[in-house]
Amino acid sequence: LNVDSLRKVYGQTKNEQTAVLEDVSFSLQRGEIVGLIGASGAGKSTVGRILASLEQQNAGTIWFDGSNLTGLTGKKRRVFAKDIQMIFQDPYDSLSSRMRISDLVEEPLLIQKSEKDLAKRRARVVEALELVSLDPKKYAMRYPHELSGGERQRIGVARALVCRPKLIVCDEPTSMLDASLRLELIQLLKKLNRKFGIAYLFITHDIALTKGFCSRLLVLYEGRIVDQGETDMVIEQP
Ligand code: ADP
Ligand code: ADP
Repeated sequence: LNVDSLRKVYGQTKNEQTAVLEDVSFSLQRGEIVGLIGASGAGKSTVGRILASLEQQNAGTIWFDGSNLTGLTGKKRRVFAKDIQMIFQDPYDSLSSRMRISDLVEEPLLIQKSEKDLAKRRARVVEALELVSLDPKKYAMRYPHELSGGERQRIGVARALVCRPKLIVCDEPTSMLDASLRLELIQLLKKLNRKFGIAYLFITHDIALTKGFCSRLLVLYEGRIVDQGETDMVIEQP
């Protein structure tokens, strides 16, 4: 992933406009785990949402796996969107309460139209649930409210995995979890990284979490990257 000079502006009229991202550039290698840290409001989620194709930047380019995302449309864009998935702070927000777990995990495949064969889609759902250690026989027919917070977060991970992504943007995925579940999720992400070489951009305001997990950190301050480097180097700084 190569992000070059991203700029994002919110607001309609000229004097309402403030840049929430300015000149944001960084890169991420295949299978790399990079933390994006910074105070609340620094622009971390905005970076993640742009990478996951949930928002458009106002300027700047994004290269991924040899393609320039800027200007891609239709099928090509969907292929790109499949490769970069996102998991969120509170998966309850993104899980429709009226859908069963099996349908929720299948949904990304339907949206992307990437797997037309029903039996193959079902197999992918089973595979994704097994990868997050939720027994499909036990969970497939349940609804989100019949799950614990930690289990719901794993459904969020399964929804990302079903697309077989190369990069997952993790937006504060542990902040609603208690300490032991937080550790469990980090272990799960590490396992998936080892198994499939999935890279992560791990967004957090909790720098302690990045130790032993992220190899590098990007520090965002008021929409700009003000520091970056190996995790220990960035943390040790006064
Ligand atoms: P972080 O994830 O670091 O907390 P965000 O990316 O969520 O930061 O937000 C960065 C800034 O952009 C904040 O000042 C926020 O108020 C503003 N912002 C985010 N989304 C929108 C939006 N849809 N419309 C207007 N302003 C927004
Ligand atoms: P098929 O076409 O037979 O469905 P693929 O060739 O696309 O399978 O995938 C090869 C292998 O990748 C499968 O055995 C599958 O278990 C594994 N796999 C599952 N999830 C992921 C993932 N998120 N990233 C990479 N590989 C995955």
